[in-house]
Amino acid sequence: MQFNVASLLKEPVGSVRNYTLDEEEVRLEDLQVAPFHGAVRFTRTEKGVWVHARVDTAVSCTCSRCLAVYSQRLEFTFDEEFFPTVDVQTGARLPLPPPESDAFTIDAHHLLDLTEVIRQYALVSIPMKPLCRADCRGLCPTCGANLNRGPCACPAPTPDPRWETLRRLLASKKHDNP
Ligand SMILES: [Zn+2]
Ligand SMILES: [Zn+2]
Repeated sequence: MQFNVASLLKEPVGSVRNYTLDEEEVRLEDLQVAPFHGAVRFTRTEKGVWVHARVDTAVSCTCSRCLAVYSQRLEFTFDEEFFPTVDVQTGARLPLPPPESDAFTIDAHHLLDLTEVIRQYALVSIPMKPLCRADCRGLCPTCGANLNRGPCACPAPTPDPRWETLRRLLASKKHDNP
């Protein structure tokens, strides 16, 4: 997902480019997302290019309750500034931003690559406990059947006999003080 920003870098601060992103699938290094839709706006800043992006895509996830593989929708927006490494007018090397700043850079051919920034935002928008649907019934703890496909043949869970005395006591209390 590379964009040549040479001409934008030659324009005055505040100049803008808009792009629409529509891809069947995109490989973000170790992360495959599909389908991929989005829109990006590049704005020339004093030092580089400000990127505002809106992304609507999906990634294959494993449900944390029923273990089914499903397509998890990911929607996010982000704003990041990218800094040139080479002066577009003179071709002179520019000082790199300090490595600890995690700043994104535009390469020596004036290519601004969105792959890494989209990968980072996609990764953090994947839920910690993915669910195929909000009311996923999960797997039967006894036979392992997927309860979303209907009830299994296991008997209903029996009450723990260790609590029987307490249960009787509570029942009699209720009886005493209506
Ligand atoms: Zn599930
Ligand atoms: Zn079962």
